[in-house]
Amino acid sequence: MSFSLDEYLAELAPFINLDCGTRTPSGVARVADLMTEKYHGLGWQVQRHQFAAECGPCLEITNAPGASHYDVMLVGHMDTVFPEGTAAKRPLRIEGDLGFGPGVSDMKSGLLSTFHALKGLSPELLARLRILVCCNCDEELGSPWSKEWLVEKARQSSCVLVAEAARPDGSLISARKGNAKYRLRFHGRASHAGSALAEGVSAITEFARWALAINELVNFETGTTLNVGTVQGGTGVNVVPDFVEAMVDLRFWSNEEAELIDHRFDFMANNPFLAGCRVEVDRLAFKPAMRPSEDTRALMALVERAGVAERMTVNWVEAGGGSDANFTAAAGVPSLDGFGPMGGGFHSEAEFLQLGSIGPRIRLLRQVLRALAESRQA
Ligand SMILES: [Zn+2]
Repeated sequence: MSFSLDEYLAELAPFINLDCGTRTPSGVARVADLMTEKYHGLGWQVQRHQFAAECGPCLEITNAPGASHYDVMLVGHMDTVFPEGTAAKRPLRIEGDLGFGPGVSDMKSGLLSTFHALKGLSPELLARLRILVCCNCDEELGSPWSKEWLVEKARQSSCVLVAEAARPDGSLISARKGNAKYRLRFHGRASHAGSALAEGVSAITEFARWALAINELVNFETGTTLNVGTVQGGTGVNVVPDFVEAMVDLRFWSNEEAELIDHRFDFMANNPFLAGCRVEVDRLAFKPAMRPSEDTRALMALVERAGVAERMTVNWVEAGGGSDANFTAAAGVPSLDGFGPMGGGFHSEAEFLQLGSIGPRIRLLRQVLRALAESRQA
């Protein structure tokens, strides 16, 4: 099937030139409308889910309506991290071999390329492959509303391919670190620093002990890292502070180690350093680590063979950041990521898409789908 980059970019522009941050549900809904139109054009079934009022819709798209099991689930998110007004300020811009604009590689091109890969499959092959495409609305917030649905759908699927961008060097992603965010609140007792110091309980002193203890938990060897990122507290230099709030970022390769840290925080909260201090620990977000299982390795080998058929060397990278693949992998379903075109500079004005990679990556994904259909026959 012939591929026209100009036509692709003309199709991509409407997705970039609208504001669709996670907190702009009407924009995400517009992206969903555009995707729905495309898949209806292929004759596929599109179901729309609205999981909460504060987020946009999610799309459940399939060529096999009513199936109880899918051979492959493709995942992409329709939201970006950018606030309203961004699209007007910097719409899709082409410079040489690069495209720029909000969400250009994270991940509007991934959504569009997924559609093009599917569009190019023959009816004979589609008859052999039950495909589910899930487009969610809230990935950039950690998928708080769509996560359960994604995991449920992944469990009905033999494997999951996520079309976030491939790395600038072309690598796909076989592993992603897990991460968690903690809010710590320290409640002490205020008193006058001059006349009643001994009557006070300093929330800052308690926090300071915690900060040092948290740094001690960092293990570069296993990749478990913690960062106390923000801290606020105290009311005046002459007052013993009765309140501090701090935010902690945790990253890990081992889900067991993450649980141990969680238990450690619980223990510390129940055993404060200072008598009379009360500590609240809240885990605000959690994404399990994505590590390849044996089944995932078999899927990696299939992707590598598909690459050979396209005269492409497939390399894998372990990424520090998370995606929805973390959730589906943790559910025990072989999951790989990076099936979009190559790009980088995510979440910044420097975000770019490598135009030369669009055609080849569509062909690679299509080849992977063909290989999945054949492996199903075998
Ligand atoms: Zn993304």
